[in-house]
Amino acid sequence: MKLARFTAAGRTRIGKVVDNTIVDLTPVLGPDMSMLELIAQLDALKPALEAHEGAALPLAEVHLEVPVPNPQKFLAIGMNYAKHAEEARAAGIPIPSSQMWFNKQVSCLNAPFDDVVKPDDSDKMDYEIELGVVIGKACRHVSREDARSVIAGYTIVNDLSARDWLPKSPTFTLGKSFDTHGPVGPWITTDDEVADPLDLEMKLWVNGELRQHAKTNDMIYDIYDQIAYLTTVMTLQPGDILATGTPSGIGAPKGIFLVPGDRMRLQIESLGEIECGVVAETAA
Ligand code: MN
Repeated sequence: MKLARFTAAGRTRIGKVVDNTIVDLTPVLGPDMSMLELIAQLDALKPALEAHEGAALPLAEVHLEVPVPNPQKFLAIGMNYAKHAEEARAAGIPIPSSQMWFNKQVSCLNAPFDDVVKPDDSDKMDYEIELGVVIGKACRHVSREDARSVIAGYTIVNDLSARDWLPKSPTFTLGKSFDTHGPVGPWITTDDEVADPLDLEMKLWVNGELRQHAKTNDMIYDIYDQIAYLTTVMTLQPGDILATGTPSGIGAPKGIFLVPGDRMRLQIESLGEIECGVVAETAA
């Protein structure tokens, strides 16, 4: 199932995407259930959600929202693809000897097709396509072998980064957390619809030019290692989003940064596409 949040006729609801349409799931969920609540009960609700047949709206006629608008955590791992780690090292960032996690503040979440803002206070805004993992169960001390069982589904994350702000805080928090710098979507594809999350092709274009192209099998620490490592430390909660690393091809090593007017398109096999334009914070 592909679970989305969408707005039509002034109301935001949860729906399932079927071909190029969206079916409102409110008749099953009731008007007040949040996506976090749905994710926490996904196993129980799934049969009824899958069976529900209702009026379908064309996707083109709705506004897609952030699929999980208020996760407790939005965690991201740095330098998790070998070629990307090398380009970071060349830029003076040492390659860590263990998984390197940081927070993107949840306030940076951005709807999948909404514009993102180039801050007045940064001239080094850069893109990073990443496989997003959405956690489905409260879990601690999860083994690598059991890690897939705590995943609700997958989504696309653009880990937008203000490169000139990364050194301003030791764990990158400021440079990774400008408002709008966390586009996520277009929806959550549930785990059962993804044959192998470790073998997904990912592509990112800027203004039609292919800049990043890799497969998730190039990760240094795969998503199961990531869940095992994180849950050594903390309880992951339903709806928590993990951004699992970006491959090579970011703009920084070439000195190319995003400017107002640019458009990014991000595509991951089985998960769909998201697309965002870049706008200036203050009109020139
Ligand atoms: Mn990243």
